[in-house]
Formats: sequence, structure tokens, C-alpha cells
Amino acid sequence: MGSVTTEIAASPDFHERCGAASCRVCARTGLTPVFDLGPMPLSDGFVHGADLERPDPLYPLGLAWCRECTLLQILETLPPEVLFGCDYPYYSSFSDSFVRHAGRNAAELIERCGLGPTSRVVEIASNDGYLLRHFAERGVPVLGVDPAPGPAKAAQAAGIPTLNAFFDRALALQLAAGDSGFDLVLANNVLAHVADLHGFVAGVRSLLKDDGLVVMEVPYVRRLVERCEFDTIYHEHLCYFSVSSLDRLFRRHALRVAEVRELPVHGGSLRIYLTAGEGESGAVAALLEEEERAGLGRCGFYDALEEQARRSAAQLRVELQRLRREGRRLAAYGAPAKGTIFLNFAGIGEELIDFTVDRNPHKHGKHIPGVRIPIREPGALIEQMPEYTLILPWNLEAEIVRQQDEYRRRGGRFIVAVPELRVI
Ligand SMILES: [Zn+2]
Repeated sequence: MGSVTTEIAASPDFHERCGAASCRVCARTGLTPVFDLGPMPLSDGFVHGADLERPDPLYPLGLAWCRECTLLQILETLPPEVLFGCDYPYYSSFSDSFVRHAGRNAAELIERCGLGPTSRVVEIASNDGYLLRHFAERGVPVLGVDPAPGPAKAAQAAGIPTLNAFFDRALALQLAAGDSGFDLVLANNVLAHVADLHGFVAGVRSLLKDDGLVVMEVPYVRRLVERCEFDTIYHEHLCYFSVSSLDRLFRRHALRVAEVRELPVHGGSLRIYLTAGEGESGAVAALLEEEERAGLGRCGFYDALEEQARRSAAQLRVELQRLRREGRRLAAYGAPAKGTIFLNFAGIGEELIDFTVDRNPHKHGKHIPGVRIPIREPGALIEQMPEYTLILPWNLEAEIVRQQDEYRRRGGRFIVAVPELRVI
């Protein structure tokens, strides 16, 4: 198996582009090449039936590492209007486990910060209000900010005040003007998307009351590498953070990492608690040391990712080809951004997978970018009873297997490819 690789070749100019690139945090010029995924479609660029004749736009996707501040990052920055157009179809509330995770998080923060009717909570990238609604339900005044019109409208309809806008330093200054600031600033799964990191973090700081708390969640690069979650690398994710690289970023903006927790969501995430000020807590110092021991401060840690990704992609393709030759019918579950990357990188398309199903009605009737696999309603799984179904959002495996109990009772089997190939 070791010699099997995907057919996608590295771009000839990848090394040159790394050499010319500047780090997104420390601005050092000349990054170390890590992994060239080759030209990829937009991971959320779902294709309408009427547009199937038109080829998908492809954009280079290359990962590089900064030896100065240890930040792993992609070289490309696509303009936000390309990435988050009016068709942006992600609604957090479509995942039950995210909503539960959000409810627990909110209850804990209300208690920790002593929030009540005179407090103020702002969330950046508030999506459809899946998190803020838990604060609002308990009488805490909230404000959401989200650039995607659909989810922002859904939040407003649910009674969550939401600004449909990009968050940047200018907006932050406008929100903070003539005001003592917010008691709690939330920003989950947004930092990795931000092109102007310094403007964003400075903006967050200016929103914060002097004794307020910032809570951010980001995917953890350590788990990405260790579990070979290469399909979480896409154009929307500009940066892949460790505690060390985050600590360096926040220090520049007089924000102090007070506490870090590791969470199982999104394949392994960090929840970072920040307060205004300097220095670091003992717990954080121990985490920084632990990352150093694990090798995150050296390029060698990231080097294995490319070979592992090629092996993992090829293994799945070979397995699906084998099942197809045996005459099995194959489908997929979900149409997440990571599914677009995995399938395109592995070269797995309609010749192997007949269709996928997704709970988000905004995706029905569309096709996965690049590989053009049609997206249908979840009921299609029971109607068609494909023998095998590949779970694309592997981070939701337990939830999906539970929901699709009937499919398994009737003899259907699930396949999961990350962190390693399994049939359930
Ligand atoms: Zn750097």
C-alpha cells in the first residue's frame, strides 16, 4: 500500500511560491514548503444542476510553515466575495451535536462571567445564532456579527440581533465607540478564516471590557497532523494554529492566554480563554512546553502529512474500486467542505459514488464541486439502500450512525476514511 499515491501532481512552482510568501503573523519572508494539494475547487462551491456543463474554477492550495513563529498556513488568500458569496450554505444548527456543544458552552460561560440582563455578549461569525440563542434564552443581551446573508437572516428571524457584516478593525471601532465594551467576546471557528489577523485580533481587543473575557475555538493543528485530517485544509482555512503560534499572535495585541482546553469537535479543537493583559498562566506555560516536546516547533513534525494524506486517499480509492468491481452500490453521507477536498484529492467521483445525502436543504439538487457527485435528501439512503455509504463529515460519525440506525438495521454499512479506513 505504501507505494500507492494519488495522481495529483505538485505544482511546479510550489517551492518558489513558498520562498516568496510572507508569514501571516510575523511577516517573515520565505516559508518552508510542507504540502502541495494541487489545484482544488472551492470546498463550498456547490454546483447547481444548470451549471454542470461549466468547469469548476480551480485554485492552487499549498501548505507552508514559518520557522520564525511556527505558524502553519496556506499560501493562497482568495477574496472573501469569492469564498463567502450569497450562496454560502453552512448552517450550524443542522448539526445536533454542535447545538448541544453550544448549549453547554453558553451555560458555563454565563456562570463563569456572572452574566445577566445588564451584561453584553458579542459573537463574531455568529452564523444562524446557534450559540447566542442560549444566552438570549437566559435574558443576556446579545449581538451577532456574520457576513453570510442566509444564516444572518435565519438568526434575525429567530430573534437574535445580528449584523450582516464582515468583522474587521473598522467595524470593531464602530461597535466599541462611546461604550465600555463587551463582557464576553466569542469567536468560534473564525480565526483560521481571517486574512487580516492583526486587524481582527486588535478589533477583538477593542471590543473587550478591561475585565472581560474572550473565548475562541480553533481547530488544533497537532490533531490535524497526528490524525491525518488533511481534508480540513481548504481555501477558507488560511491558518492552522497551535497554542504556541496563538500565544505569539495574541501577545502582540495585549491579550493574555489565561486558559486552554482541548475539545473533540471538528477532529480536535482548542478553546482559548483570553483576558486583557500580559504574561501567561502556569497551565499555559506547561502546554507550550508540551508542544515543544512533541515537536510542533520544528518543521519535521509537519513533513509526514503529505505522504500520509496520499496514502490515506489512495487506500480509500482502491477500496471503493474493489467494492465497485464486486458490483456493490456506493453512496456517501454529507457534503461538508472537507468532503470536497478529500474526494477531489483522492480522485473519487460519480464513477464510484452514486450520490450523497445531506440534512441541509440548501444543498439538495446541487453537486459536490469538482467531482460532481449529486446531493440528495437523507431519505434517499433508505429508498436506495446502497450497500456501502462513505461518511464524509467523519467528525460527526457517532451522530450520523445513530441517526441512520434504520439503514444499518437493513444491512447497510458505513465507511469512514479518517483517521484511518474503517467499515462500520
Ligand atoms: Zn511567522
